[in-house]
Amino acid sequence: MELLKERIYKDGKVFPGDVLKVDSFLNHQIDAELLGKMGEEIYDLFKDCSVNKILTIEASGIALACFAAREFSCPCVFAKKAKTSNISDSVYTTGVHSYTHGVDYNIVVSKEFLNEGDNVLIVDDFLANGAAMNGLISLCEQAGARVVGCAAAIEKVFQNGGNSLREKGYRVESLAKVLEMDGEAGTIVLE
Ligand code: 5GP
Repeated sequence: MELLKERIYKDGKVFPGDVLKVDSFLNHQIDAELLGKMGEEIYDLFKDCSVNKILTIEASGIALACFAAREFSCPCVFAKKAKTSNISDSVYTTGVHSYTHGVDYNIVVSKEFLNEGDNVLIVDDFLANGAAMNGLISLCEQAGARVVGCAAAIEKVFQNGGNSLREKGYRVESLAKVLEMDGEAGTIVLE
């Protein structure tokens, strides 16, 4: 998506550990007009897939997921991060390793909001090693819901999460793909 690529080149900042910061429009301050267009783009890609639910993970996936859900006229459900001691049997849950914080945590979704027969599109801001997407897929499997695909705003292709999901047979679409980043030189190469 050209508009997103231009914005990444203009405002994206590379941090140590292959972290791309896009806080000025996606992860902290939100450019609602741009995210609205990204939601439209996701709708165009998956409009023939009978999507009836968007699933994401708190916190930074929520904004884009809501814009996408508005296009599909369907609910947006976000998995919550939970303490292990708090987990009841009214939720689906799985463990996820956080790329940006380097810790493991549990994500939960109430059984009320994810059901057998749902056609779920998973949406997130970033796709790196794929832990977040795989965790969300696991929640769908537990619910007996069908994953119609995964959509990421930004995929860091050199981290292989997207390609391993594609190898497993999932349809994965990314609005911008980072091929290379160099923290020292501050350079970003997009596909
Ligand atoms: P994964 O689980 O695919 O390894 O990483 C994806 C998750 O980690 C996303 O939910 C996102 O919040 C976070 N993440 C991964 N890489 C980056 C990055 O380069 N920048 C930012 N801002 N978040 C990232």
